[in-house]
Amino acid sequence: MSVSESFNPFKMAQQQFDDVAQKLSLDQPTRDLLRNPDREHHFNIPIRMDDGSYRVFRGFRVQHNDARGPCKGGIRFHPQETIDTVRALAMWMTWKTAVVDIPLGGGKGGVICDPHNLSMREQEALCRGWIRQLAANVGPLQDVPAPDVMTTGQHMLWMLDEYERIHGAKYPGFITGKPVGLGGSLGRTEATGYGVIFTLREALKHLGIKIENTTAAFQGFGNVSQYSLDMYSQLGGKAIAVSCWDQKEQKSYTYKKADGIQFKHLMDITNRFGEIDKQKAKDIGFEILDGGAWIEQEVDILVPAALENQVNAETAPKIRNSVKVIVEGANGPTTPDADKIIKEKNIWLIPDFLANAGGVTCSYFEQVQCNMNYFWTKEEVLKRLDEKMTVAYHAVSDLALTRKIYMREAAYMISISRVAEACKMRGWV
Ligand code: NAD
Repeated sequence: MSVSESFNPFKMAQQQFDDVAQKLSLDQPTRDLLRNPDREHHFNIPIRMDDGSYRVFRGFRVQHNDARGPCKGGIRFHPQETIDTVRALAMWMTWKTAVVDIPLGGGKGGVICDPHNLSMREQEALCRGWIRQLAANVGPLQDVPAPDVMTTGQHMLWMLDEYERIHGAKYPGFITGKPVGLGGSLGRTEATGYGVIFTLREALKHLGIKIENTTAAFQGFGNVSQYSLDMYSQLGGKAIAVSCWDQKEQKSYTYKKADGIQFKHLMDITNRFGEIDKQKAKDIGFEILDGGAWIEQEVDILVPAALENQVNAETAPKIRNSVKVIVEGANGPTTPDADKIIKEKNIWLIPDFLANAGGVTCSYFEQVQCNMNYFWTKEEVLKRLDEKMTVAYHAVSDLALTRKIYMREAAYMISISRVAEACKMRGWV
């Protein structure tokens, strides 16, 4: 069995939790509470397809913990979605909202489907069906969904509309990632990627490295990677390689430009699924390499920002000695085996639930603005985002530096302590 076939993200999330629970000497009831989700919803979504036939899709919502506030987390549409992926992501959301210290818990949802093969009408039916199955269990005071892999502001708006029809009132704070002008926040599109680079900027400062002198390789060119690459370039860094999926060929490729990638040029040849047009890339001078080549580049910074389980026991040994920082844009891109290798190589790692917390932070700002019914300018949103990410980064790096521990461990220690304390103060355990 290959590494990716045997990979179970939930087992990995539990293993990470168990290790830190041990270090924090958490009592057994708190461990039992936090190593499994509070609640799970599994359900069917029957849809009438455009050709008149019926198909039944499988949907999930996992609510991991809401001791610090309503659950919060995205909804993914993915053909390989599994309940264990959703469980892991829900748990990571609990740690993520805690590490940036916003008053929310952790949840995640998904539907096993491939939006590439669904018309817009079929996708709308799927969104409305997902809400109909969950209308009593989600809401602004219970659980607040958002977009994630292959879901967009349009999907969120259909879901909001269905929720408001069922409940007979307006609940703009029910769901985030809505289109701007319809309850969405300015800056949300950029928030996760920009947040990734705000944490990288702070890391480079204390490592004494000038961002203008660095090069980077990215995995993925969807929402997170696009705006990471944009902000990284704006701050003076040179992106030289980007890998992404090719739907036609059912494989990934790495697109390389040794003299630096122009964000706008790459955006012009990328579709809405974050897939780069291979022929057009060739035409404008990109070198086309194997999909796995992004990790083998002689760069200072690696940004895995596509999928989980990408930096693993097979790929991590290929990381060059030039790499000084790995900043995790994706959720769960690195396995515990690979963590060991990264530690040995003395690479500074900025863990996923800290690095990519910009999205949920901006989602929280969206809720705040919806509740006030008053919206901030983009500059104001991004300024507040930068403040939150910078404070969160330093809380984690200060702990890591003083205790001489790995950054992922420090981030977990902060988050798990905060959530455990909330559970205790509520009298749950
Ligand atoms: P997206 O769907 O917009 O983009 C995904 C990208 O990954 C695409 O460019 C796709 O081509 C690429 N990809 C898919 N399979 C690949 C493969 N085998 N090799 C290389 N590239 C591949 O998704 P996104 O919103 O950018 O999310 C990416 C990751 O970040 C996910 O792990 C997601 O859970 C996480 N995340 C997203 C947000 C957010 O706000 N969007 C927030 C936090 C975390």
